[in-house]
Amino acid sequence: MGQYDSMKFWKQTIARTFKVCQMCNRPINIGGVYYRERLTDPKINFIGKKVCSDCYKDQIINKSIRK
Ligand SMILES: [Zn+2]
Repeated sequence: MGQYDSMKFWKQTIARTFKVCQMCNRPINIGGVYYRERLTDPKINFIGKKVCSDCYKDQIINKSIRK
């Protein structure tokens, strides 16, 4: 954790395959919206978190407002 923090952003994505939220472990169905952590520099090999829209709103937006 840490070195890429300033380059991270969250991209809204439509699930093309079945996924599981990495925060609450609930399933994300095919065609559902989820949020994926990305880096602004695509050359860096980075595997970001995938979270459902509920976790994104609860954890990520709320957290960044409090900062
Ligand atoms: Zn979730």
